[in-house]
Amino acid sequence: MDLFGYIEKIQDFITSPIWKYLIYSFIFVLIIVWLAFVYWTYRDAKLRSESAVSSVFWALVVLVLNFLGLIIYLILRPPEFIDDVVERDLEIERMQILLDNKQSNCPACGGLVKDDFLICPYCRKKLRNSCINCGKPLSLNWKVCPYCRTTQ
Ligand SMILES: [Zn+2]
Ligand SMILES: [Zn+2]
Repeated sequence: MDLFGYIEKIQDFITSPIWKYLIYSFIFVLIIVWLAFVYWTYRDAKLRSESAVSSVFWALVVLVLNFLGLIIYLILRPPEFIDDVVERDLEIERMQILLDNKQSNCPACGGLVKDDFLICPYCRKKLRNSCINCGKPLSLNWKVCPYCRTTQ
């Protein structure tokens, strides 16, 4: 086969419906992947930021720049999910309350109780006695009141 024969064959292939079909399906897959990137970015940004604007903004960036936008987003996105941040803040707040109010957990039900509570407000378990003389809260196993020296 000579050179012209080859060129003719290539031309035949390029103009054949199979080639067209391949190109179209390739473009179709590309568009699907592209849209999937945009959707993924939108969702991921939404989980990481409270502002709706930022997730729409990042979705647009990926829509316009595609791979490049995705890479930029992956570099610049907030490192934590917003749920994790909220959960950690709640935990810190809880610890702070424990420290500030000298609270502890009820040995029976685990509810938060202050150190001077006589009974647990949640399960009614007896936590402390009150001194028979001065009324201050005493540990259940104390024999004498440390505030007024009265033997219990
Ligand atoms: Zn309790
Ligand atoms: Zn006392």
